[in-house]
Amino acid sequence: MPHTVQEIALPSDRTGTRRALTVHRFGTPGARPKAYVQGGLHADEIPGMIVASRLIGMLETANVTGEIVVVPLCNPIGLAQSVSSSAIGRYALPSGENFNRGFAALADGAAERLQGRIGHDPQANVVAVRAALAAAHAARTPVSELAALRHALLGLALDADIVLDLHCDMEAVVHVYTGDALWPDAADLAAEIGARAVLLASDSGGDPFDEACSAPWWRLAERFSGDGPIPPACLAATVELRGKADVSDALARADAEALIRFLARRGVVQAPVADPPAPLCEATPLAALERITAPVPGIILFHAQPGAQLRTGDPVADIADPTDPASRRSLHAGTDGLLMARSNLRFAGVGDLIASIAGTVPQAESDRGLLFD
Ligand SMILES: [Zn+2]
Repeated sequence: MPHTVQEIALPSDRTGTRRALTVHRFGTPGARPKAYVQGGLHADEIPGMIVASRLIGMLETANVTGEIVVVPLCNPIGLAQSVSSSAIGRYALPSGENFNRGFAALADGAAERLQGRIGHDPQANVVAVRAALAAAHAARTPVSELAALRHALLGLALDADIVLDLHCDMEAVVHVYTGDALWPDAADLAAEIGARAVLLASDSGGDPFDEACSAPWWRLAERFSGDGPIPPACLAATVELRGKADVSDALARADAEALIRFLARRGVVQAPVADPPAPLCEATPLAALERITAPVPGIILFHAQPGAQLRTGDPVADIADPTDPASRRSLHAGTDGLLMARSNLRFAGVGDLIASIAGTVPQAESDRGLLFD
């Protein structure tokens, strides 16, 4: 089956506007394993778009033995949001919703359809769960353009064995978010892509895209544990490809080549397979990620670079009040760990995220979910 390109039209919220998703398909529909890759869900995060685009170019000449679906620009709504020349790609302007939250949690709807249908054969259970998830998804009717976008993306990815949602942070080293149940299975992905941190959770809060694909599997496994085994059959991950400005041909080609090697090892693409490179990190709990926020407003003066290994108490940044030259508030690491990401802005308001440190010791519980909105 050759490379095909499909357009999915989104319903419009405003008369006279029309947006569409461009979907690239490779391999035979229904062939296994199926991989799904998207870029730009946060539409001001460009690295994933160019990596997905390079991946499409590489797949055109690859021997795809499974099925691969690539949506290199998966959020045309967000991409259209430019305010006075500034891209606003993380949140929908009309509602303030984060584009990578609020995906349908399909476990409940699938569970109703699985009563009496889970048995001792894990592979038969995988087939039954996929059908139940598809039915639960099909039963939903999105109304708005944004709801239709989320519905369409989830529908493209829901039955995949592998789902890669390509994002980036503000200024960052490569890192990956994935599920507890998917580790260490996903270790070769992290090693190939050169991840310096892997953050694990079972429920990040807010229903991000990767968990909408993967979490139903462990939720249903728990619910039907007395009936039979349900393996975590969808390896979904959010892959953070450095910082917003880390966009280049060289990086995109290297990242796309890493994804091809991963897809080859997983049997989606036929190509020589070697052992993955040595991992650059251990996985750590997402709950152990320290989010340093600004306690006061002011100019951010960083002391630590992304990728720095910090000890508790090491300086991360100063916040300086420009109206009072004597004022400095020093921010320090509250945990041992890797400075995974930091702001790309240099002025902070109170509560703004300054830096994230991937530690190993879970932080005190907070009211909000594990993800910083
Ligand atoms: Zn993002």
